Amino acid sequence: MAVVETVRGPVDLGNLGQTLMHEHVFVLSTEHVQNYGSDWWDEEAMVARAIDKLNAVYAKGIHTIVDPTVWGLGRYIPRIQRIAAETPVNIVVATGLYAFEELPHQYEYRGPGLPLDIPEPMVADFARDITEGIAGTGVKAAFLKCCVATPELPPGAERIARAVARTHVETGAPITVHTSGPEQSGRTAVRIFREEGVDLAKVVIGHAGDTNDLDYLTELADAGVTLGMDRFGLDLFNPTAERVTTIATLASRGYAASMVLAHDANCFIDYFGGAHDDVRATVMPNWHYEHITDDVLPALLAAGVTQAQIDTMMVENPVKYFTPAKGGA
Ligand SMILES: [Zn+2]
Repeated sequence: MAVVETVRGPVDLGNLGQTLMHEHVFVLSTEHVQNYGSDWWDEEAMVARAIDKLNAVYAKGIHTIVDPTVWGLGRYIPRIQRIAAETPVNIVVATGLYAFEELPHQYEYRGPGLPLDIPEPMVADFARDITEGIAGTGVKAAFLKCCVATPELPPGAERIARAVARTHVETGAPITVHTSGPEQSGRTAVRIFREEGVDLAKVVIGHAGDTNDLDYLTELADAGVTLGMDRFGLDLFNPTAERVTTIATLASRGYAASMVLAHDANCFIDYFGGAHDDVRATVMPNWHYEHITDDVLPALLAAGVTQAQIDTMMVENPVKYFTPAKGGA
């Protein structure tokens, strides 16, 4: 049977179970924490917190999280390995780059037509993470991540998106792209990926669920991509009740096979520094791994979504996404 790479190694796709398709363990800048994080970053306490949170969601039936934390969001696999060793949750990790506009300087002068005129180094780096493993850890990335945050893509972000697309073509690894639902930048992602020959069945348009514009969402789904209904609990972008209504409407029109669910949550994000726990408690109390199992699934059932459609979104669609293409790499 086909397998997907996780932090603990390959797992049969049939054993993924209920899967949250876009969650972070930590969003944490290494350079920032090394310089300014001494008051609020406690490595041991945070690792223990993550193990507790993952075990709690496992007890509610979630057996896999798909974590698109790449460079730009603070990927650090040795820390995730410590956590994965203490929880039964499968953690699937990514390669790629999280940047809305500018390239990191490490790629600015190296690449086709640049002062160091070499083949696209991002493709080599991303492909190595997928085929050999990440930074000597032996952990292999199972998917690719980039950002198409605006309809008009800045040149740096476009180079990253095309490098991600070419790595997909080379390796067969699927793609999750950060997009803006309100700005409808998923269209731009689809255009670029089409130009690069990407199999659109292997693309999740992340954060599509931040909009309730059914014309936009069905246009994307009809193009063959999967809609990331993946920010449950981030009510400031779109409240849960409206996200639920949109999913129920799409499911009633036959689009359950085109949607995946998640929170885009984490155990800690350094965007709020030492105020993290207070901000979470007061502004976004539902932004955690258990909101979907506790609140969203009952609401979807009440809105007319069937259990079979929920299984499609939470089990079958993730399996399809990670199933290698026929004769693929
Ligand atoms: Zn995210």
